[in-house]
Amino acid sequence: MSKNIKTWDGSKQLFGLHYDLHANARDTELGVCATPENLEHELARLGLDFAQTDCKGHPGMTSWFSKTPDATVCPGLKKDLMVQWREATSRLGIPLHCHYSGIWDAAAAKRRPEWAVVPYEQRDTLLKDAGKIQKMCPRSGYIDELLIPQFKELIDRYNVDGFWIDGDMWAVEPCYCPRCLDSWEKQTGSRDAPASPADSGWSEWMLFIRRSFEDYVRHYCDVVHEYKPGIRICSNWLQTFANPGNPDVPTDWISGDNSCIWGLDRGRCEARFLPNRGKQWDIMIWAFYSTHGLARPTSAWTVKSAQMLQQEAAIFMSTGGSVQIYENGVMRDGRLIPWRIGRIVEVAEFIKDRIELCEGTETIPQIAVLHSEHHLYTTATGTNLMWDFNYAPVRGSVAGLLENHYGVDIFDEWALSTRVGEFPVVVVPEQSKISDKMVARLQDYVKNGGKLLLTGAELIKRFPADFIGAEISETRENATLYVPVGKDIAAIHSPVWAMLKSSTAEDYAPLGSTFMPGEFMTGFPGFTLNRVGKGAVGCIPCNLFQDFHNNP
Ligand SMILES: [Zn+2]
Repeated sequence: MSKNIKTWDGSKQLFGLHYDLHANARDTELGVCATPENLEHELARLGLDFAQTDCKGHPGMTSWFSKTPDATVCPGLKKDLMVQWREATSRLGIPLHCHYSGIWDAAAAKRRPEWAVVPYEQRDTLLKDAGKIQKMCPRSGYIDELLIPQFKELIDRYNVDGFWIDGDMWAVEPCYCPRCLDSWEKQTGSRDAPASPADSGWSEWMLFIRRSFEDYVRHYCDVVHEYKPGIRICSNWLQTFANPGNPDVPTDWISGDNSCIWGLDRGRCEARFLPNRGKQWDIMIWAFYSTHGLARPTSAWTVKSAQMLQQEAAIFMSTGGSVQIYENGVMRDGRLIPWRIGRIVEVAEFIKDRIELCEGTETIPQIAVLHSEHHLYTTATGTNLMWDFNYAPVRGSVAGLLENHYGVDIFDEWALSTRVGEFPVVVVPEQSKISDKMVARLQDYVKNGGKLLLTGAELIKRFPADFIGAEISETRENATLYVPVGKDIAAIHSPVWAMLKSSTAEDYAPLGSTFMPGEFMTGFPGFTLNRVGKGAVGCIPCNLFQDFHNNP
């Protein structure tokens, strides 16, 4: 008998299970052994607050018998998996979300090539054959003719409680179709869009691609929220550390599946950024990993130890986040494997034992690191909205400050502008393209008693000489210089070094040209400190944190 489904009140930290299997053309027995009894028995062991299950993966095939025109039901589907999961989760009284691949839909590209992204070489046309292209254009009919109708179908037929949209922000590819070029022309006055990162205007083009994607998410959120108020929607990685700036796209929570390896390092920045987004959030932890290349046949997937999973979970719980564990469909017949679920039970117990202690956690303001949206989006080096940006200075500064046992929060400009006064120290790591407004805000912050650390020659140039108490007398490019550290000397490489000549600032850490102390000195400081108003500003005139990230 079904219980009433629990609802999220938005303030609790939760524990969930995510399950997906990316149904594909090789499947022959999908779902034959998935029964509500098997699923209920295994899920009950976990004491879940919610579950997410497979619905449609990147191949674009559904693991349920979708009736939406243009749906591609997996030919190997033998039993409707949504029916089984809905029945099991209803019996347990827990919400059920669908794992649905959004932008990435290989089957839709094959079936309706005019929906697919258009590469530069075929610009201003619609494709008649998508070939190897599997990604959807965010302005195409895909959204209103397949994605949203399937969401409505899942709500109507299975009474699902939410959607976790995968293959979304990280799967976006620049699209040069007539729909997208019309919009680009309207915005810029020109139909010419850059072809590659080597062309001028690439970062502006990638920002346009980002905004196009955000409009697509906004659209499906608005339609589905209106169709069924209370339904919860999340777009994987949207509004996370990889997407700073005002989180105004109306998703209901923030989530991302953490790297399957080195998750602890990747998670560090998310755990310190997501609490400052003003939304409920979770991080999904893969229960398994592949150490020498994702899914390479020579590097078999291995289940993580309970301790590995607990360590990762602890990072997110301790800063107020929820956690879900990702188990995938290793048995294509849909069975959950009892010993693997048993491993996750150990994590569930660890979380449940501590969750009360973590709930409502807030950091004690110590150091705020600025992760500027205005800067980040000017650093596009490729075509991917997630990976092809330079996060190294922020990651390096957070790692360095944590190693020195400081408490660190990460803020974008949107969040820092209202909270900067709470923090005794603000660090701006090589964010040379911060907004003029933030440059002014940080000067006020110092005058009112704040301590500001600026790193990077290009960033220092953004501030008036009388504020930093020094002038740049010369620069050195692609140089390694040597800085005293206690009794030792450290070598730092930077694409640009500023040689600072102080007026009112105090000089520290004389820069040398070799490891030999006191000889071959440059005559310039490695650090300056200027007292301004009630506060102070320190400058390190090189890309210290980028170097620390690259050469820890
Ligand atoms: Zn397009």
